[in-house]
Amino acid sequence: MEIDALREAQKEAFKTLENSFKKNRLSHAYIFEGDAGTMKFDAALFFAAKLLCQETQSPCMDCKQCNRIKNMTHPNLYVVKLRKTEIVKEDIKALQTEFSKTALEEGPKIYIIESAERMNAYAQNALLKFLEEPHSETYAILLSEDANKMLPTIQSRSQRVPFHRLSESSIEKHLLQEGFEQTQARLASRMRATLEDAKALLEDVYLEELIDIAHAIYDALATNQSALITLHNEADQLFNDKEKVDVFIDVLTHYQKDLIYGKINNHNQMIFAEFIETIETLCEKYSLNYLIHVLERMLTIKVRQRNHINMRLAFDNLMIALERGEAYEK
Ligand SMILES: [Zn+2]
Repeated sequence: MEIDALREAQKEAFKTLENSFKKNRLSHAYIFEGDAGTMKFDAALFFAAKLLCQETQSPCMDCKQCNRIKNMTHPNLYVVKLRKTEIVKEDIKALQTEFSKTALEEGPKIYIIESAERMNAYAQNALLKFLEEPHSETYAILLSEDANKMLPTIQSRSQRVPFHRLSESSIEKHLLQEGFEQTQARLASRMRATLEDAKALLEDVYLEELIDIAHAIYDALATNQSALITLHNEADQLFNDKEKVDVFIDVLTHYQKDLIYGKINNHNQMIFAEFIETIETLCEKYSLNYLIHVLERMLTIKVRQRNHINMRLAFDNLMIALERGEAYEK
């Protein structure tokens, strides 16, 4: 968990939380509300660490307290997980039992309830009772995609903190911090809407391979070789894998967009800046109209793909269109 990246990704939520710490006006129950992939759980761990870390710059994320929070082994931190389709009364009772144990350490106790809107009515009532009991240093963090599904009495007892979808650039930053390469991080951040999905895409190792194939095709065009033959040489196995083809058309589409960005001098938007030489050569070779025309063809393939067209044939036609670039100039 990178605090700076988290703070950057969820500025508003962090401002709310850090202000309550500063003003010493902590609520005993929070609802962190936002879509999946908005790092609500990370923020909840940050909150727990902020309460338990003894360092002056708290949370330091490095001391014994912080490390036990990160590993979720701190006795004063309890996480209620969604085990099946709903959270039941017994899950809340287990939390209460755990927090009544004397083995807990001095200081604040924090519990996190994941997918809190999935608590059934019995669980919600049990939680409500627990919230109503006075516990001076107990803090509840309810994570939810839709807080309105919870009892109004729970909602009114909690402070709601909204979490927003991560921007492309903050997904990219997170991926870079996790050690992914620049081109791959940026590409994945444009191809997927959440950090989890972007990571899943990168961890399915073939993204790198698909970038290589796309670059080989454009490089062939830049050096007056055949894109069609390059596709067949480099990507012979590609068409046996429907999912790969699906991702590949996206990769090509983004590469093609980079040519357009190059043409209109909008280099900041480029994903494949590492291939700038190839991109610039192609920008000299092709007109803007033609680049847009090919992009449209790529997008058409993507749409038609759902109708089970012959992808190999569609790609062959596309490669031929790319090769004919100059003929289209006029
Ligand atoms: Zn610490």
